[in-house]
Amino acid sequence: MSKRLEGKTIVITGASSGIGKSTALEFARTAPKDLRLILTARRIDTLKQVAEEIKKEVGDGVRVLPFKLDVSSPDEVRSFVSNLPEEWRDIDVLVNNAGLVKGVAKAPEIAEADMKVMFDTNVTGLINMTQAVLPVFLKRANGGAGDIINIGSIAGREPYVGGSIYCATKAAIKSFTESLRRELIATKIRVIEIDPGQVETEFSVVRFYGDKSKADAVYAGCEPLTPDDIAEIIVFAAGRRENVVIADTLVFPNHQA
Ligand code: NDP
Repeated sequence: MSKRLEGKTIVITGASSGIGKSTALEFARTAPKDLRLILTARRIDTLKQVAEEIKKEVGDGVRVLPFKLDVSSPDEVRSFVSNLPEEWRDIDVLVNNAGLVKGVAKAPEIAEADMKVMFDTNVTGLINMTQAVLPVFLKRANGGAGDIINIGSIAGREPYVGGSIYCATKAAIKSFTESLRRELIATKIRVIEIDPGQVETEFSVVRFYGDKSKADAVYAGCEPLTPDDIAEIIVFAAGRRENVVIADTLVFPNHQA
């Protein structure tokens, strides 16, 4: 349990599955008193189920707000904070987790629609969310306070054949995150990046347009991380005392080449 996280208001994008869902549960387990969790994604019914799971596991000490939000829609993101009920607007932590990969293709064959959805979600969506929430952080005393936790990927550091666009989006997150950390150096705002390696989630099902057998083949012969492995690190980073920044972390399965 962490006293430091008690009473905080936390926004998680992409909280309907995988790492985002596990992160919501992990925050709730770690700070089961007076926490407010704003769970966002496009699948609102799934978010409501996640809220029920949290309630079942930790009880009513954690308040949960499922909130339908498409991060690739600039209009939805721009009005995100003002559309929250007033008592939910004082956000302390933003976990920019929503993201996806579409297709495996060498550069000449990349479908324009796939390229667009990856950039609109992974890059523009993350930046727009940051711009939407930063004013809340900046209005706090002494130049501002709050945590921005961006989920990058090993793909942003080690590009692979057939994944040039996804890798480029994750490299863009790294550059944006590092610039932002430097811009905010005079404040108490912490800018954190966590880069997972292989994690078994719906990620590869989305990558192969719903083809589960192709998705399962990705993990054949290896043991990927679980989303809980990453969630624990996200919550650990948010729970450090305010002078400690876990700035840039790569986490992958022991055997991943
Ligand atoms: P999942 O597919 O399980 O989760 C992705 C989440 O993003 C879902 O909750 C989905 O919700 C949400 N999402 C997708 N598009 C949008 C959108 N336009 N607006 C809002 N939410 C959206 O995959 P993971 O949990 O694995 O992925 C989470 C993050 O981790 C991603 O950024 C991914 O790039 C990163 N990552 C994953 C790795 C892995 O091996 N799994 C490795 C390295 C990084 P919904 O469909 O309801 O909108």
